[in-house]
Amino acid sequence: MRYTTDVQDADFSLTRDSAFSYQCNACSRCCHHKAIRIEPYEALRLARHLKLSTTDFIARHTEAGGTVLRVIEEKENACSFLGPKGCTVHSDRPLACRLYPLGIARDADGVEKVGRLAAHPETAGIYGTGATVADYFAAQGVAPFLDVSARYRHVYDRMLARLEDLDAVEVEERAERRAAVDDTEVGVAASTWIDIDASVAAYCAAKGKMVPSDIETLVDLHIEAIDAWINTI
Ligand code: SF4
Repeated sequence: MRYTTDVQDADFSLTRDSAFSYQCNACSRCCHHKAIRIEPYEALRLARHLKLSTTDFIARHTEAGGTVLRVIEEKENACSFLGPKGCTVHSDRPLACRLYPLGIARDADGVEKVGRLAAHPETAGIYGTGATVADYFAAQGVAPFLDVSARYRHVYDRMLARLEDLDAVEVEERAERRAAVDDTEVGVAASTWIDIDASVAAYCAAKGKMVPSDIETLVDLHIEAIDAWINTI
């Protein structure tokens, strides 16, 4: 399956200082026909919200190897977390849902670009210019998601650089590998690294450490484990 997101078609002409406001009126139209991409931290937050391990969360609630929230075809491709009164995981909703109707992309140097997504033609949301993009991001609580994402991006870039050192054709094969992740059987993690609980448990067992229970320390150890693995390849 090929997943597309609204971000690919967004107009990236905004900055954090741009005039922008958006009032959600809970029409829930934005929760249909979307590929909501998630990173391991977002899966961990959602898993804990549901009192699940990340292993169980990925198995029950994701597709594309654990990187996309599952949708329900019979309900007009609604996100599986959409309930009669709106989002059932609101306090731990993923970054894409917090940013909506904006999106963030990065150029080749990692510099942030803010884009305005195409509005649903029947949206009940109200757009305005009475505040700024930065105000909107603050109100949506995006900061911890962006902070953790930047930390993962750093280790990911390090991993890619190391793999490129080992294999000159790595760059050419990356798109193919990305497509293979999307084609992963539904409910199966594309890599053990996507599953924070499983990979931290294995790392702690190897190091004789206690497995922490809080989200922040789990993320710290997950990144430490990936970093340690990169040093071995
Ligand atoms: S997680 Fe919540 S806000 Fe995001 S698409 Fe699903 S129902 Fe909508």
